[in-house]
Amino acid sequence: MDLKNKHVLVVGLGRSGIATARFLCRQGAVVTVADQRGEDALKDALAAVRPLGVSLALGPHPPEIFERCDLIVLSPGVAHTLAPLNRAREKGIPVIGEVELAYHFIHIPILAITGTNGKSTTTLLVAEMLRHCGFRAVAGGNLGTPLMELVDQQEGTNFIVAEISSFQLDTIERFKPLVSVILNITDDHLDRYADFDAYARSKARIFENQGPAEVCVINEADPTVLSVSENLKARRFAFNCREFNESRAWISDQTICFHTPELGDQYVDCTDIPLTGRHNLENAAAAGLAVLAVGGAVSGIKSALAGFKGLSHRMEYVDTVGGVRFYDDSKATNVDAVVRALESFASPVVLIMGGRDKGGAYDSLIDPIRRCVKQVIVLGEAAGIIMSALKDCVKIVRVPDMAGAVATAKEVAEEGDTVLLSPACSSFDIYESYARRGEDFARRVKEGENRG
Ligand code: ADP
Repeated sequence: MDLKNKHVLVVGLGRSGIATARFLCRQGAVVTVADQRGEDALKDALAAVRPLGVSLALGPHPPEIFERCDLIVLSPGVAHTLAPLNRAREKGIPVIGEVELAYHFIHIPILAITGTNGKSTTTLLVAEMLRHCGFRAVAGGNLGTPLMELVDQQEGTNFIVAEISSFQLDTIERFKPLVSVILNITDDHLDRYADFDAYARSKARIFENQGPAEVCVINEADPTVLSVSENLKARRFAFNCREFNESRAWISDQTICFHTPELGDQYVDCTDIPLTGRHNLENAAAAGLAVLAVGGAVSGIKSALAGFKGLSHRMEYVDTVGGVRFYDDSKATNVDAVVRALESFASPVVLIMGGRDKGGAYDSLIDPIRRCVKQVIVLGEAAGIIMSALKDCVKIVRVPDMAGAVATAKEVAEEGDTVLLSPACSSFDIYESYARRGEDFARRVKEGENRG
């Protein structure tokens, strides 16, 4: 792709927009950067791009900038359905995402991970496993370092491991990872997609350019993943799968079993690994298959798992107060993540939920809640919807904020119980991010208590 003297519009001035603008300028493009936010909200970003000499279009998008360029590059947070983008497409102006642009300049193999839940954990697991197998790997994409920044880190690197969201897949054209992984597809982001099918189709785009020289790792136990991958052209590796696929992995108690034609059966005992929960064994199985697909060894998979502690705000142990264990799972922003979190607890759970509703149904929580939850505490915009969905299956109270949620949880939980923040909703009604929400929870848990 020759960008010299091309007029390129970058929409969205987050970390990936900044990296994109920087890269385009180095390639000799004439760059305009547009962001609907104003000067004040963009202080740091502007300090980064002003020295590049780019033109700026801040505030409401002026329609003409979308029609006076040769290429439009979208940041992951920008909806690809914006009206001025459609007009640009009608005029024949290509509209691509940051991932697609980066792909054109990446010459080493990419392992790309998507799914509704577990992307970040699995992306970091794959990178760690590759390193333990003696490869040099860098990780990024939707998590941490944008793909556009990784373009500069290829020298001496064997693999790029990329977390890819459905929004990023909406704006690819030729993006073709050597290995793609689809972990699961359950209700999420129904506030941004027309319906569940549209969301699932978007996830499936991760393998649309793959052929028999590439590998796709799929979850054989997920009916939606199975149905979208029916016409897969890549070699199919499957987890949650005991037979049929030549290369596969399955979980038996705390052991992950891998099978490939070359290695036969290989067993990885996970009894003592720091990651908890069956869902994390699935993530590890998927990651392991991806690593085996590029020539990694089972010994590297084992040693990476032995040292991998997991990420903050995902089933993260916070503290024990008065004999009650508190966990922060603030990153559980959809219903399935909460279902999987509850699978991990045998003791009675006091569950804190709520935030901004994302349009999914809460019904699948009824059975797991009946099994182990003694009380639900709800807060935020979605409190009313959650109460009406769950009121017949569990005792449920509404509180005004996180202070109220933690105080109520401390009152109702008894020694030996678990308190779990696993909201099933995004945080944006009260907090700027899931991380701030988790931090607020943890701080209030630790506030003024006798430890037990
Ligand atoms: P993502 O990047 O897809 O949001 P994370 O690894 O950040 O995934 O985890 C997000 C939430 O999903 C956390 O609450 C985590 O405990 C839960 N989770 C992780 N892996 C899975 C999985 N395979 N299935 C369901 N939930 C999962």
